[in-house]
Order: sequence, then C-alpha cells, then structure tokens
Amino acid sequence: MILIETDILKNTDDIYALTGAFFPGEKITITCRQGTPDDMSHPVTKRENSGKGGKLVYKSDIGAMFDVEVCDLSKDELKRTVYRALSNHTGRDLPWGSLTGIRPTRLARKRIELGMSDDQIVADMKNSYYCSDEKIRLSIEIARKELELINPLISRENAHSHYSLYVDVPFCPTRCLYCSFTSNPVGSDRSFVEAYLNALELEIRETAALTKCIYPDTVYIGGGTPTALLPEELERLLGLLERYYGTEKALEYTVEAGRPDSVTAEKLRVLKAHGVTRISVNPQTMNQGTLDLIGRRHTTDNVKEAFHMAREECFDNINMDIIIGLPGENVEDVEHTVSELVLLDPDSLTVHSLAVKRASVMKEQLENGMTDGAHNRPDPVKTGMMMAEMMAVADRGARSLGMKPYYLYRQKNTAGNLENTGYAKEGRYSLYNILINEEVQDILALGAGGISKRLDAAGNASRSANFKEARDYIANIDKVIDKKREFWL
Ligand code: SF4
Repeated sequence: MILIETDILKNTDDIYALTGAFFPGEKITITCRQGTPDDMSHPVTKRENSGKGGKLVYKSDIGAMFDVEVCDLSKDELKRTVYRALSNHTGRDLPWGSLTGIRPTRLARKRIELGMSDDQIVADMKNSYYCSDEKIRLSIEIARKELELINPLISRENAHSHYSLYVDVPFCPTRCLYCSFTSNPVGSDRSFVEAYLNALELEIRETAALTKCIYPDTVYIGGGTPTALLPEELERLLGLLERYYGTEKALEYTVEAGRPDSVTAEKLRVLKAHGVTRISVNPQTMNQGTLDLIGRRHTTDNVKEAFHMAREECFDNINMDIIIGLPGENVEDVEHTVSELVLLDPDSLTVHSLAVKRASVMKEQLENGMTDGAHNRPDPVKTGMMMAEMMAVADRGARSLGMKPYYLYRQKNTAGNLENTGYAKEGRYSLYNILINEEVQDILALGAGGISKRLDAAGNASRSANFKEARDYIANIDKVIDKKREFWL
C-alpha cells in the first residue's frame, strides 16, 4: 500500500499514474486536505489539516518513503519532478519516462511537422520526458507512417468534410475476466438483442441526415463482439448502415470478430456481401491454459478454424490481437503464441500490454489478494524486464511477417508500463485506428458507449458520449438522438 499525502488539487491523476507505473499491483491512495481534486478517476480520500503545503508525502505501510516539493510547478514540471523522485527512490527508469498520456506518437508527429530531424526529436523528448531512445525512435517510425497514411483524409480547410463511423455492438458469447467493456453475454434469449437493434435502428435512421450525404471514409463496428449477433441480426444491422450511410462505399470497413467462437461461414458471408473489407479475429494467447484462466471460453483450435474459414471466404485483411502480460504467462508462452500466429500469417497484428482495469473481474481478484499461483502481486523489476522481452518477441514476429508498426497508444495500469502497438503489412493498415487514436478526424459514434468527436478548424476535439450501458441506451434512445443532433449540427 502506498499513501500519498498532498494539498495540491491538480494533476493528481498523473501523480497516481506515475506512482502506479513504478509500483505495479500496489494499492495507491492519495489524500488531500483541501477536498476533491479536479481529476478523480483514482481513489482519493479527503484529509483535514495536513499542513503539508505544496508537498507530496509518500508513505508505505511500513513507514515514510520520501517527500517531494511540488509548489508552483507546471504540469510537465510536476511530472518530471515526481518521476525523478520515484526513479531515485526505486533506482529504476521507465521506458516512457514521465509520459502518462495515451498518445506519445502525437508528440513525435508534432515535432516532425515542425521540421525536426530524428536526432533532434530524440534529444528533445529525452530532455522533456525522460523517454528511452528505443521508445522515442518507435514513436518517430510510427508517426512518419501515420502521416503518410492519413494526410489525404485530413482536411484543414473544412474540418467537417470527412468523418468516420463507429457502431457499437455490446454483446459477446460470454464475459472474459479481464473485460472492462460494457459487454453483455448474448445468451439464448434474443429479446434484449432485438431491443438493442431496434434502438440502434432508430439512431441510425435519425442521425444519418446529419452527415449531409457524405459517405464515411472508414467504418468500424466494434464492441463487444459484433459477430456474436446471429446472421439475420448482422444482416439487419449492416443493411441499415448501407442504406442510411452508404457504408459499402467506405475506403475501409472493419467488423470485429474478436471471439473466434462467434465466427461462422454464414456470418462471414453476410459481412462480405455488405462490403466489409477487414475483420479482426483475436486469440489474445495461443496457450489453452491461459485462455481457460482468463475466461475466454474458446480453444486455440477455434482460433485457427475461424482464421482459415475467413480466408476461405476471401477475407484478405485479417487482424489478430494478442495480449502480453497475461496471468501466469512467461516469455516462452508469448514465443509460443507468436510462432503459432506466424504460421497463420495474418495481415496485421495488434499487441496489447495487459491493462487491469477497474471494471474487470480480474482487478477485483487482484485486489482481494488472489494467490492461486497465477495472480501473485508482480515484482516491478522482473515485470518490467519480462514485459519488455515479451514485447520484443511480438515485435520480431510481426516484422518477420513483413509488418511495420503504424499506430500506438498507451493505457493506464498496464503491466510493465508499456504500450499497445498495431503492426500491419503494406496496404493492410487500419486507417480508422490511426484516425481515432490521433484525433484528426470527426467520428460519428452510434450505439451504447459510442463517443462521437467533432474537430474545430484548429484541430481541437469536443466529445459527446451515448449512454454506456445497453439498457440505459435503449430506455433513453430519444434523448440519445436529440443530444447527437445538437452536438453534430
Ligand atoms: S471478447 Fe472482448 S469485449 Fe467481449 S467479453 Fe471478452 S474482453 Fe470483453
């Protein structure tokens, strides 16, 4: 347990994230004398009369750790100061240094656009954020690829002449233990699915006019697992999108088929018939013991079958997702997963670092001290080294298939404080993933949990979120539509 006492009310989310990165698996609590901080997505308790001024006072359950002066610092200075204090205390450095944001490639992209050379960017980002050379060079490689791919889709003159469409299907065959999405097990009673599709149909019909008949550049149906829908339900949804949004004309049309146990030839034919160009079949790991442990409820054979089925149905752009840092897995397990995927030869590979999020069953188990041999609290040094090695294994595997990294984002509370990286072969990139990640295009998001984004001429994004839970979304669909109209027009 780590307790941070402070009187400052700003940027405590960053302090929390940096501390968590140095002490993975530790429970961290921040207490503030003056009330609730501005950013409170982490546990905060109110504390009276600490008298600690502009200081952070770190304590563990065995006593005082250290104090840091943080009076009158800008956000970046504060993060640098806290990073240095944590690094001195632990004797360790982090690959991404003091960066807590989710889009480090943006920093590299901005510097490229300013005309800086690679060496200048490395020097500048090291100085500003203490990132490692390796991570800065990865950011530069990805930022250059992103610029090449998305420049034609970004209009500075008319911010709203291009957009992408996202549709959420919040159903899955069953719920995985690490899941933090609002996914509902689909079950045998389809009345809930039907009620959801009825509400979604209303949103599709009523909001289509907002786009003034401009076709979306890219379409992404995610969730959830959209292929958890029955073929006739998929047919209904994709037919509506085609009719109201002209989705078959999009440059790229992705449907997630994440759970291989939801994939059938009939469903794949429905996707093909409606112009879907890209699907994602996600093994996460090719080790059966781990799949069982994380509650995926499918086999490694299901993964291979779904992949081959998709090839037989002529899908020539298949992505596969894997997660590194899964409970109980070591470098050899990741090597096994990667070698199995290399044999399958997908067109793109997305490598996630496990993020144990608050809404997941796994987080609950970790906090309750689950000690079944697979969920023991990690040693930070070992975790960091092992995760870096696993990431290198995945990187080598992807590059051996002729793929290059083309987008990257970070999440909070990831094992080893690493990143998620998308790799793809030439011509098999997902433009949507770059557009959503870099926030360079409007996104119209439909369905439960969808977050629409609108960019102004200066490139600043504003957001509007639909109800997160499917039941709330269904019950309030009229409000959802009114809010969307107001936001988009
Ligand atoms: S497949 Fe994905 S969205 Fe569905 S339950 Fe598992 S982690 Fe959640």
